[in-house]
Amino acid sequence: MNTFDVIIIGGGAAGLTAALSASRAGAKALILEAAPRIGRKILASGNGRCNLANSGEIRYEGGAAFAEAVLGQCPVNEMLAFLSSLGLAVCEEAGGRIYPACGQAAAVLDVLRAALERQGVALITDAPVTLLQKEKNGFHVCTPQGDFAAPAAVAAFGGMAGGRLGHDGSPYRLLTGLGHTLRPPRPALTPLIAEKSDVKGLSGLRLPAILTLCDGGGSPAVSAQGEALFTDYGVSGVCAMQLSRRAGEMLRAGQRPVLYLDFSPMLGLAPRLYDRVPAGPPRKNVTSMRAFLRARAHTLPRDALLTGLLPRLLAQRLNGLSLDALADALCAFPVRLTGVKGFENAQVTAGGVPGEEFDPQTLQSRLVPGLFAAGELLDVDGDCGGFNLQFAFASGMLAGKNAANFQEVSP
Ligand SMILES: Cc1cc2nc3c(=O)[nH]c(=O)nc-3n(C[C@H](O)[C@H](O)[C@H](O)COP(=O)(O)OP(=O)(O)OC[C@H]3O[C@@H](n4cnc5c(N)ncnc54)[C@H](O)[C@@H]3O)c2cc1C
Repeated sequence: MNTFDVIIIGGGAAGLTAALSASRAGAKALILEAAPRIGRKILASGNGRCNLANSGEIRYEGGAAFAEAVLGQCPVNEMLAFLSSLGLAVCEEAGGRIYPACGQAAAVLDVLRAALERQGVALITDAPVTLLQKEKNGFHVCTPQGDFAAPAAVAAFGGMAGGRLGHDGSPYRLLTGLGHTLRPPRPALTPLIAEKSDVKGLSGLRLPAILTLCDGGGSPAVSAQGEALFTDYGVSGVCAMQLSRRAGEMLRAGQRPVLYLDFSPMLGLAPRLYDRVPAGPPRKNVTSMRAFLRARAHTLPRDALLTGLLPRLLAQRLNGLSLDALADALCAFPVRLTGVKGFENAQVTAGGVPGEEFDPQTLQSRLVPGLFAAGELLDVDGDCGGFNLQFAFASGMLAGKNAANFQEVSP
């Protein structure tokens, strides 16, 4: 049996930082990674640029209080100082989004991998953990590559989002087998599926817009602004994905939510923003839109009103409407939602192991002494903008440091 001080299950953002923190605190650490390579989600994140944190107000939709408590223990400047101490240079962009300065996600993984080697952290890949057992002197961990033991273990096996980059749900059993519970995992930050007829002919259009999700009764629930991307199945793009958690909840509750797109930002009638915005009535810009179209109608023949103003596909769709109906359609273009895309297309997992079952100061289990958890496996899901990686890195740092310092108190 190979014995270590801390065994880390999973070599993603959370597991790698946990291993480095544990090793810095003097522990002999081992990472067991199921896949042939570590850090695959880091490489895929932010379209290959890795939006690794956010310096603004912290924004989590699920497990918000727990996430805030964890990030209170490890604020963004500490997390960035940790990555900087490994050699990573970062830069900040609009909305507080933090990226590697060189613009490449690979740089993040490179510094983590180099630090693992420098610090002598043991790593075994192709080693899915199949059993995590609590014994008298710690944990017994089984993989197809052998069995391992340690007084402390950090679970960092991630969530189900991201298709082949995520898992199939079976690793949750490692924690439920020890008495933890599981909130049903659901895809979040994922594209929206619409009635085919509502998006017909628009696939491929990427348009600056304000998106407002209204519930079954027509009340606005959430809004986000950015570039909406029409697809053959519905609407994608960051601003659409921001609304997917709420849309999924409405659909599961049997409602028939409608997404309204206001193209005022495309036409210069509202600023172009890339963020959440307060939810308001979808038609709030209709007066200025009407005035804008009337002024245009003074100088252009009716059949040329939309030419050069809208992309051809959208103009074809709206052709023939009266000026008022056109203003309505451009301020509140309705798309009836029928679903949200699954884990394959999702960026993060909502649900998971409840944070309340762990101490947010240390990430130690309240049920199993010596067991720590970090990252996406916990029931925490953040907004787009770097919040999910930030939580993974910060919770990994805390879990690793505290696992290294763990000492079982004899009863
Ligand atoms: C396409 C995409 C883009 C994204 N972009 C961003 C972004 O720009 N900014 C942001 O903040 N977030 C982004 N996210 C989300 C973010 O990447 C994740 O929330 C974060 O990486 C989770 O880190 P983690 O360490 O908890 O899990 P993971 O990175 O998933 O790591 C878990 C690891 O555990 C391994 N594992 C699973 N089961 C076992 C087992 N039984 N035994 C051993 N190992 C196991 C897995 O193979 C994996 O390597 C994105 C996600 C996706 C899919």
